[in-house]
Amino acid sequence: MPTDKLLTGHRRFKERFEANREMFVRLAKEGQQPKVLWIGCSDSRVIPEQITGADPGELFVMRNVANVVPPFGTGDTAVGAVIEYAILHLHVPHVVICGHTQCGGIKALEGHVDLAREPHSARWVDLARPAHTQVEASGIPEEARYLETIKANVLLQLENLRTYDCVREAIRAGQLTLHGWLYDLHSGDLLAYDDQSGAWGALALPVNDQDEQ
Ligand SMILES: [Zn+2]
Repeated sequence: MPTDKLLTGHRRFKERFEANREMFVRLAKEGQQPKVLWIGCSDSRVIPEQITGADPGELFVMRNVANVVPPFGTGDTAVGAVIEYAILHLHVPHVVICGHTQCGGIKALEGHVDLAREPHSARWVDLARPAHTQVEASGIPEEARYLETIKANVLLQLENLRTYDCVREAIRAGQLTLHGWLYDLHSGDLLAYDDQSGAWGALALPVNDQDEQ
């Protein structure tokens, strides 16, 4: 039974918990002070803590199909609540929106999602559809469109994030920086979008732990 693996994993985790009891108890007593709101895909292969090495208490996470941020006022409350809590209560200084290669939510935009059978999915992926429409209209060769749509969707969701008053105000006050990232399932690399050049490039990794900020 697959859940046996989860229970074995939990047993191992309890061993690690005991070995790091001080840190876990401190988090329980003092509360969380994450520095990053991570908005990523629900895809089981894209695990934010795994690909960034983040420890408990470091990432405030929202994962959903295709790392979508519904624009302010569209009726969504789940993502909006996470954004408001992260910005207004936790005062995170960074938001990362992380897309990934082979994203099923973006792939769905190439076909038809049956509104009667999958009403939630159909409405949800429509929030990423402008990225698909934009790439389709841009004349990019067909074989490159999937990846370009995944990238365009990250930028679209960053735009949507800026429709929230609390996000705009925190940026204006110099207290918040937004980041668009892309995780490559084949290489394990993280790419980042550079606002200045308008290009995606490999994240500059610190040479050793001392370079971490
Ligand atoms: Zn995905």
